Amino acid sequence: MKTNFPVKAFAKLETPFYYYDVELLKKTLDTVRNEAAKHTGFHVHYAVKANFNPRLLDIIAATGLGADCVSGGEVAAALKAGVPASKIVFAGVGKTDKEIASSLDAGIFCFNVESVPEIEAINSLAAERGVVAQVAIRVNPNIGAHTHANITTGLAENKFGINYEQLDDVIDTIESKSNVKLTGLHFHIGSQILVMDDFIALCGRVNELQTMLNEKRGIVLPHINVGGGLGIRYDAPDKFNIPDFELYFATYAKHLKLYPGQQVHFELGRSIVAQCGSLITRATYIKKGTCKQFIIVDAGMNDLVRPALYSAYHRIENLSSCRADEVYDVVGPVCESSDVFCKDRKIPATLRGDIMAIRSAGAYGEAMAFGYNCRPIPQSILSSDIE
Ligand SMILES: *Cc1c(COP(=O)(O)O)cnc(C)c1O
Repeated sequence: MKTNFPVKAFAKLETPFYYYDVELLKKTLDTVRNEAAKHTGFHVHYAVKANFNPRLLDIIAATGLGADCVSGGEVAAALKAGVPASKIVFAGVGKTDKEIASSLDAGIFCFNVESVPEIEAINSLAAERGVVAQVAIRVNPNIGAHTHANITTGLAENKFGINYEQLDDVIDTIESKSNVKLTGLHFHIGSQILVMDDFIALCGRVNELQTMLNEKRGIVLPHINVGGGLGIRYDAPDKFNIPDFELYFATYAKHLKLYPGQQVHFELGRSIVAQCGSLITRATYIKKGTCKQFIIVDAGMNDLVRPALYSAYHRIENLSSCRADEVYDVVGPVCESSDVFCKDRKIPATLRGDIMAIRSAGAYGEAMAFGYNCRPIPQSILSSDIE
């Protein structure tokens, strides 16, 4: 049983809902900011797609982080939360004219470009407005991060980024146009990465590429964006409630070879918001099958899709019970066999009505919720709402 949740207050609330520990979020943000500040030229952009809950975005924006966006909607959300346009970057393979136009009008810092036709579209929309858009090339470094296949993004076979062989042509294209200016290189190799070796491998690629660009074309770009991807400990959300940002930034500081004055940008999503969030749900029924027993909860895959989508592990705690453990599958009510949060898990003996917490759900949880089966999108409650 967990004591650090306001279980008495939860008992009065309708479930399911996302619960966010604001104090932990703020501590995490302070750690990120302080650890990044130990290294000159390091800047952190929060990856909005991990969680775009407006109240969390307000807190994140207030700490001075920039924003990494992957849609026009995210750019608008970041601006609304008070992130200055000069700290907003916009990535994604499919930026539409409308999204590019509104971002140009807002005056965002940089477009991370992923193809030649996209560069052409940005150039003509910028020309119409008489402005010069700053662009960074998203390079595909062909590195397979040690993580789930659906969340690696840096392999040649992925849709993301521009491959090495095409880089020269892409730079030529940018240089031939008067309304785009190349100001950086961008990389992002995947998500939920816990071994620093993957980031060290990325540094190696960045260094190679910088040397090549410098020697072949005399180019030194003002900023290098190494993306995000730092993972969190889903297995131990209390012990490792704040990721090791010190090691993460120190790894880059040690392995990246920078030219004088170069800035390094990071785009962290999951590592900032995952541990502060839990999906709170109630046991609707305990069902005994022939060889299994199920806890059927009132949250489903539509509220938190990661287990169904990536076979992701989340700790599940019964906040109402300190009874002896039994073995259960925890499942939702949605009419899909994949609506399963965990299988054969030891959980204290659970009764109908018990309140449960699905932990480490602050990233890619609420943000990915959907309305299948006419189920409402879950509400969110901040710890600061309760008392
Ligand atoms: C998703 C994404 C991120 C954030 O990834 P995390 O694993 O949540 O840190 C950063 N940059 C880009 C381009 C992304 O698409």
